[in-house]
Amino acid sequence: MFALVDGNNFYVSCERVFNPTLDEKPVVVLSNNDGCIISRSNEAKALGFKMGEPVFKRKELIEQNNVNVFSSNYTLYGDMSNRMMKTLKEFSPEVEVYSIDEAFLDLTGIQGNLEEYGQTIRATVYKNLGLPVGIGIANTKTLAKIANKIAKKQNGVFVIDSERIRDWALRNTPIEDVWGIGRQYAKMLTNMGVHTAYDFTRLDSNWVKDRMTVVGQRTREELLGLSCISLETIVKSKKNIATTRAFGKKLSDINTIAEAVATHAVRCAEKLRKQQSVANFVTVFIHTDPFNPNEKYIYRSVTVTMDEASNSNPDLAKAALAGLRKIYIPNILYKKTGVIVSEISSEKNIQGNLFKTTDREKLNKISKVTDSLNAKYGRDKLKLAVQGNKKEWKLKQEKLSPCFTTRWEDILKVKA
Ligand SMILES: [Mg+2]
Repeated sequence: MFALVDGNNFYVSCERVFNPTLDEKPVVVLSNNDGCIISRSNEAKALGFKMGEPVFKRKELIEQNNVNVFSSNYTLYGDMSNRMMKTLKEFSPEVEVYSIDEAFLDLTGIQGNLEEYGQTIRATVYKNLGLPVGIGIANTKTLAKIANKIAKKQNGVFVIDSERIRDWALRNTPIEDVWGIGRQYAKMLTNMGVHTAYDFTRLDSNWVKDRMTVVGQRTREELLGLSCISLETIVKSKKNIATTRAFGKKLSDINTIAEAVATHAVRCAEKLRKQQSVANFVTVFIHTDPFNPNEKYIYRSVTVTMDEASNSNPDLAKAALAGLRKIYIPNILYKKTGVIVSEISSEKNIQGNLFKTTDREKLNKISKVTDSLNAKYGRDKLKLAVQGNKKEWKLKQEKLSPCFTTRWEDILKVKA
C-alpha cells in the first residue's frame, strides 16, 4: 500500500503557522516578482480567485474583501517542507519526496487499520508543524493520488481498499484529474466521451497503448489496482542546475547585471556543493521582455568551458561573468538573466588540467568556511565583492513575510 501525503494550500498554510490572525481569512501567495496567484486559502478560492491568475487583474476584489497578499517566501516554505518530510519518515522507512508539499510513503507491512494510521500521521504533522495535510491510501500510486483528492473533501484521510470503493472513486474522478494524463490527452479523451477515470479503465488496453504509449497503458493498469510505478526514493543527481530570475525592474547597466549573474553563479555553486559534485560548463543567458510588443525581443546566451570542473564560488562566478561580457550589448533594457551549470560529475574525481595548478584544497577550505558562516548568519553574509550589495536587480517582493524558522532575527517573540 502507498500513502500520498499532500499539504493543503501549502504556502498559505506555512504563512498561517506563524500568523494565526490569518486563520479563516482569505489569503493568497504570489509567484516570483509578485506576478501571479500560486496558492489560495479556501476562503480565497470561495471568493473566486483562480490558480495562476495575474494579481493586478484582481486588485479590486482584493481590496473589497481585505484579502491578505504575500510574496512567496521560499526560504520559509522550503524549511517547513524539510521538517514535514522528516516527520513523515517516522511513519515509513521508504519515503519519496515528490514535490515541496507532497510525499509518497510505502506502507507495506503496516499492521492494523490504515485509516487510523493515516489519521495518526495527519495529527502528528499538525502537532509538530501546524500544517494541515490530506492523505490518500491505495495499492497503487495513481490510486493514492485519487484517494488524496477525495480525502481533502472529506475528513483528511481516504483509503481505497476494495473494488467497490475503487469503482466509486474512479466514477467520481474527472479524467483531467488523473495523475499522468496530460491536458492534451484529457482533451482527446473527453471528445471521445471518456469523462471519468472509470470510463478510461473501460477502454481496450491495446487501444490505449496505441494512442497514448505505454505510459497511458500503465496509468490504466494502475487505476485497475495493478501497481506499475514504484517508489523512487533515491535522489538522482541533477543533470544540470539553473538559477534564473527576472529583475525587479528592467536593467541596462552591465555592472548591476553582473551583480545578479555573479550571485546566480554562487547559488549554482552552493547547489553543486550540496550534492558533492562539480560542473564543467557554465551557461549564461540574458534577455529582454518577451511580452513587450513595443520592442524587439533579444535573447543571448553563451556557454563557457572551465579549465577544470569546479564547485567553488570564485571559479563559477568568474566563468559566468566572462560569459556575460561576451553576450552583453549596451543600451538595451534587459528583463531577466540566468546561469546554468552542466556536465556535472562527482567532486571526488576531478579531471585535472595540465596547464593549471589549482590549489584545490585551499578552494575547498574557503568554500567550507563560506558555507558554514552563511548557514549561521544568513545567505550571502560572506560573499564575493562582485555580487555587490545594492541589489537593484532584486525581485519585487513587497509583501514578504519573515523567515521565521531560518533566520535568528526573524524568530517570533512571545509575550507572556
Ligand atoms: Mg498541496
